[in-house]
Amino acid sequence: MDLHLDSVCVQGGYTPGNGEPRQIPIIQSTTFKYATSEDMGKLFDLEASGYFYTRLQNPTNDAVAAKICALEGGTAAMLTSSGQAANFYAVFNIAGCGDHVVASSTIYGGTYNLFAVTMKRMGIEFTFVNPDATEEELDAAFRPNTKALFGETIANPALTVLDIEKFARVAHRHGVPLIVDNTFATPVNCRPFEWGADIVTHSTTKYMDGHGAGVGGCIVDSGKFDWTKYADKFPGLCTPDDSYHGVVYTERFGLEGAYITKATAQLMRDFGSIQSPQNAFLLNLGLESLHVRMQRHCENAQAVAEYLQGHDKIAWVEYCGLPGNKYYELAQKYMPSGSCGVVSFGVKGGRKAAENFMKHLKMAAIETHVADARTCCLHPASATHRQMNDEELRAAGVGPDLVRLSCGIEDKRDLIADLEQALAQI
Ligand code: PLP
Repeated sequence: MDLHLDSVCVQGGYTPGNGEPRQIPIIQSTTFKYATSEDMGKLFDLEASGYFYTRLQNPTNDAVAAKICALEGGTAAMLTSSGQAANFYAVFNIAGCGDHVVASSTIYGGTYNLFAVTMKRMGIEFTFVNPDATEEELDAAFRPNTKALFGETIANPALTVLDIEKFARVAHRHGVPLIVDNTFATPVNCRPFEWGADIVTHSTTKYMDGHGAGVGGCIVDSGKFDWTKYADKFPGLCTPDDSYHGVVYTERFGLEGAYITKATAQLMRDFGSIQSPQNAFLLNLGLESLHVRMQRHCENAQAVAEYLQGHDKIAWVEYCGLPGNKYYELAQKYMPSGSCGVVSFGVKGGRKAAENFMKHLKMAAIETHVADARTCCLHPASATHRQMNDEELRAAGVGPDLVRLSCGIEDKRDLIADLEQALAQI
């Protein structure tokens, strides 16, 4: 039976049989038993599917990954221990030493660092492009050895909205997949595959978990990118893998399964960034209410953005749900039911005023986290970006006055009252 998205949030990924647990069981076992060595051997040759060691795969994780896969409309998915691991695997699965990747410049700082510093040390070069660039400008960033294009649906914390169709067109023109980090929008608000993206990643730590309970990540494949058409570019998927007795992933698992099977069989085996089954269980509890919470996060953010926009102590407000915002039209196109709960704004008076304002907040806790059921906020200039002076901050798109507010799912009247009393004191 084809379920609507809200029902998939609640029931997707796991269908218990007669007398089986209603809730996804936590399979708290590192290992799995087999009757014969031949049975086990088939698993190691990827000839049979099954579990042998939780560093690679675990049934609890797979049930939760199957739910996220259904939510995104993909063909295969895997959980990872964090969003960082998801983005690393997503790129490293198809790019290696000597390769090149194009990425939006406004992506999350941790991902930027992973690409620009750590993966660079592994011999992969990245070119960062303005997400608002024209197609011709984007084209110019590609090289013969480019293996992927990467962007975020809604960037953290810049809040730029990705023109997914434009990015997909450019990627496909150059014979590479578009990878979209869909953490902030979640599939409840945007399904990038419907707009041409090929692979989606998530920091499930954010809205999917939603309760600040477990760090995690996920990768979903649309199954639509034809690796075999560009076999020279993607030998890892289209030529024999010696570490699995010569299996060719695209031949054995088809376009729908090759990419995730390779990432599981090679990268999970060798790097082991698996999500713990306990965390996968907690993640599933979050997913069960994702559709309800996202609606409230967005409703609260919209109300807060509108309130702040009219306040005489506020210099500017960035939220793509506000008519007149640079990304309003793109947000209406890709996320007509709402975008996310994160709003950024500037307090008149700059750095000192922003710090002073935040000191007086009572409900909104100061945290580096976002996308939690509880409202939280951050002044990057005195926290994550504290090493930069005002000039450097402006160049990074994070002004000294910028406050990032992640609206939770409390009553919006209380959120606004909290902002009001804090603004009154500065
Ligand atoms: N992607 C985005 C858009 C994020 O906001 C974050 C974390 O804030 C990450 C990836 C990294 O995820 P994690 O913290 O789960 O490793």
